[in-house]
Amino acid sequence: MPVRHYDWIAHFGRRTPDKPAVVDLGSGRSYTYAQFDSRISRLAAYLRDRLKVKRGDRVAVLALNTTDTLEVQFACGRIGAVFLPLNTRLTVPELQYIVGDAAPVLMIHDAELAEVALTVAKKCNVVSALLLGPDGSYEAAIAAAKPLDNCEIVTLDDISTIMYTSGTTGQPKGAIITHGMTFWNCVNLGGPAYVSPSTVLLTVLPLFHTGGLNCYTNPVLHAGGTVLIMRAFDPGAALQLISDPARGINQFFGVPSIYQFMAQHPSFATSDFSRLIIGGVGGAPMPVPLLKVWEERGVALQQGYGMTETSPAVLTLDKEDAARKAGSSGKPVLHTEVRIVRPDGSDAGVGELGELWVKGPNITPGYWNRPDANASSFTDGWLHTGDAARIDDEGFYYIVDRWKDMYISGGENVYPAEVENVLHQLTPIAEAAVIGIPSEQWGETGMAIIAVKPGHSITEAEIHAHCEKNLARFKRPRLIKFIDALPRNATGKIHKPTLRASFGAAKITDGQAA
Ligand code: ATP
Ligand code: MG
Repeated sequence: MPVRHYDWIAHFGRRTPDKPAVVDLGSGRSYTYAQFDSRISRLAAYLRDRLKVKRGDRVAVLALNTTDTLEVQFACGRIGAVFLPLNTRLTVPELQYIVGDAAPVLMIHDAELAEVALTVAKKCNVVSALLLGPDGSYEAAIAAAKPLDNCEIVTLDDISTIMYTSGTTGQPKGAIITHGMTFWNCVNLGGPAYVSPSTVLLTVLPLFHTGGLNCYTNPVLHAGGTVLIMRAFDPGAALQLISDPARGINQFFGVPSIYQFMAQHPSFATSDFSRLIIGGVGGAPMPVPLLKVWEERGVALQQGYGMTETSPAVLTLDKEDAARKAGSSGKPVLHTEVRIVRPDGSDAGVGELGELWVKGPNITPGYWNRPDANASSFTDGWLHTGDAARIDDEGFYYIVDRWKDMYISGGENVYPAEVENVLHQLTPIAEAAVIGIPSEQWGETGMAIIAVKPGHSITEAEIHAHCEKNLARFKRPRLIKFIDALPRNATGKIHKPTLRASFGAAKITDGQAA
């Protein structure tokens, strides 16, 4: 018998009606739980009764961060529809691929993205019905609609969302997210992330990505806390908000580049982090030197590991271990099983690298329209993450890199993240990425692509000298390329396929100095 999904916002609308639920920093609006619940209820009624959205239909949203997007998520849940958040940084053809794949019945968008949204909607034959913003048809619809008279019965096994992966390794895949997956992520992450009714979270990551939506936005709303949504990340404004006692922000989450941008900002040194109970980081390898920079400001960033497909938390590192185990993503969260698996399918030993596999109620049942990926990504219910990991003798997990980013130099495996960590020890380096390029002598060898901080300088010779001291010979990048800024995807992750396309053809000839 499937378990029913209970609506958290309706619950807190009754339990703590006057408590602030969400603050939309872009527009200055804020809603209590009672108001948020009422808006969701009226939106749900409008979607179902006026726009004829049926159970199972997909509803797309293309908008910069706004609390309205969260309303669409919860309204879809009340009528059994499927929330489809779209990546705002994609081009028309990229969006066309996703919209064509997920086939929503409706496109909701904001004024900034109107042109793109309307073009994609037209090309994909999707109705574009609601415009977000104070003067848009969305607001008018909510004002005019009556509360929903009867919610659909939705179970934890029903699909709540289709969320496309970041597209770091190729074409984004639509991960099917059930209500149960999101619920279990709230349960699993709640404890280690200190989520409580007194949490005041600042969300800066995009809500179309699992990091923005589920770290920790949904868990905080599930606990009856308060979420402040920033329209788009701005390091200076984020530091100011965190420092402001009147805001009372005590929780924050970012990918490594977010913390890098904040650390480079002139007001970082004078910002007040004393109220922060937790600053979470995940989504990509976190350079250990950057962890140290934050530690010096009194913030023990909590590393975590996850994926869109796992809703997303899989591993988290407790604050108490943050300094001692810097570089580790911690231990498995509650209700999630983790294995490190050798290529032959057996379990790797302590210290041995293998592929991370995960299982649990927070793991996707599969990808939308991707029988190929579904066949290759699961074994007996275990999801193959594609990430290389190892465990130490105390049970802490280390994500080493993506399997596919690993290259083999002179018969030795090189994991670029390890080399990148060493490069990040050099203060002038703002960004560093290492890729394998063909080498006549070694099969493959490393190329480091580096962006230097404004106002700093460093030479190739200095970088080589640092690598010679800190890395075994086969790991040292033999070529170094300076560029202004590394290409990143919409989530802020370095996009290695672009780097490979630009520089991967550079061929190193035998005898070139190592
Ligand atoms: P795609 O699957 O489309 O290529 P993606 O894998 O980047 O994109 P996400 O689901 O956003 O899409 O990211 C999950 C991935 O992010 C993980 O598989 C892992 O490679 C990386 N990642 C997440 N957390 C960490 C971490 N703490 N350390 C290292 N890598 C991490
Ligand atoms: Mg992935």
